[in-house]
Amino acid sequence: MLRSKIRTSKGNYPVLRLMHGLHQFEKEVHTSNQDFFARLAQKQSPDAIFITCSDSRIDPNLLTGTAPGELFIIRNAGNIVPDYNEHIGGEAASIEFAIEVLGVKDIIVCGHSQCGAIRGLLNPDSLTEMPTVSQWLKHAERTKRILSDNYHEQDSDCVHNIAVQENVLVQMENLRTLPCIARKVMKREIEIHGWVYEIESGRVYIYDPVDEEFLPITLGKNGYELVSGDGLPTSV
Ligand SMILES: [Zn+2]
Repeated sequence: MLRSKIRTSKGNYPVLRLMHGLHQFEKEVHTSNQDFFARLAQKQSPDAIFITCSDSRIDPNLLTGTAPGELFIIRNAGNIVPDYNEHIGGEAASIEFAIEVLGVKDIIVCGHSQCGAIRGLLNPDSLTEMPTVSQWLKHAERTKRILSDNYHEQDSDCVHNIAVQENVLVQMENLRTLPCIARKVMKREIEIHGWVYEIESGRVYIYDPVDEEFLPITLGKNGYELVSGDGLPTSV
């Protein structure tokens, strides 16, 4: 089936577009960057672990202006890192490898606007046909608790935006339950960062533990700095 579709190139077959991309990559991109890929083939040495949602609208390399080999990317529905005491899975294994073997020292948890996983978390009735998603989102249950304890009578967009932010903070906390991270955080050998990507504006907000809010960055006289007073809204 796949072979005949490729051969005839007939019909609206989305994977054909990808095949075209593969061909172009091999013949053009790879060919004109042979030294770069030869170096990549030898080893990887990423600058950061980037944990984000599986949402197709997020491109970590595009967002951060990085190339292959510069980000160790972990993705799932809702940019979740399960609490190590409750679940040991692919996320913990990938993180452990990146820290212990590759020596990565910065971990970014990046949530985003219009997140379907967060919508599901806030509207569990919408998940009745998706028992696996429902089960997975239990790892973000604390986000929901924080919302119901602290935020009331707000419109649904606002609740969603706050939930995205709170979920990033919850997952940053969960990261600290991993033994390899707990140890290194104590010795200040690792730093955990919280980001929220706003698809509409193209802006990424960075969590400032001092102001306790997600703030945009600007390029000031002394380099990049967080802009106080222009953070993501946390209440109406
Ligand atoms: Zn999402």
